[in-house]
Amino acid sequence: MPRLKPHELLEKLREALTYGDEEFIAFYIFKRYRDPFKVLVGVILSQNTAEANTFKAYRRLEKEVGVSVDAIASAPLEKIEEAIRPAGLWRQKARSIKSLAEYVKRGNDLETVLAMPPEEARRALTSIPGVGEKTVDVVLALFKGGVVPVDTHVRRVANRLGLSKSSSYRKIREDLERYFPSDLRLEAHMYLILLGRRICRARKPLCEICPLRSYCEYALKGREIQR
Ligand code: SF4
Repeated sequence: MPRLKPHELLEKLREALTYGDEEFIAFYIFKRYRDPFKVLVGVILSQNTAEANTFKAYRRLEKEVGVSVDAIASAPLEKIEEAIRPAGLWRQKARSIKSLAEYVKRGNDLETVLAMPPEEARRALTSIPGVGEKTVDVVLALFKGGVVPVDTHVRRVANRLGLSKSSSYRKIREDLERYFPSDLRLEAHMYLILLGRRICRARKPLCEICPLRSYCEYALKGREIQR
């Protein structure tokens, strides 16, 4: 594959894809509050649902319960469940959010945890039920940098482009981190998601309008087959 340099790849994506304030819940909360607890709550809510549902659930939670450690720790579970219904899987997500608040209440300061080496921070935070490695990586990417969190879009796009051949979360993250220098990794995560949401869809990717079509393994293979 005629491999693009990482900054050239990102430049093509920047030119083709713009995004608004409400495209990424984690980034939105981070920019407003710089509060790892709130960002973690946002990322938990965003699991397996569209961003619009996540925003709706987060705002209801803010209004009806409050998104702070004390408010969540003292609220009845049912009240949290009711508030976050628009995000789906509300029972499971409410338990995770509650467990997160209890984790902090037990004396675990999130800023201190995030300042640990990434592997230690991952080990510590994934001990909270419902907090997986991708959730931690999003928070690490925002507060610390140097990480490419891999969601379903990033995984698909990375595989199709030929940036990673793996299906393993860790291996894809490592492949992407080998390719993108540290200062481009957060942006790479966001633009690969945008590309996956809008153009490189799971079914019927829109290769004919994709800014990376001349460099993509999947598209180039398709063309060879058509000849
Ligand atoms: S060319 Fe097609 S398969 Fe490749 S990244 Fe673009 S949309 Fe996806």
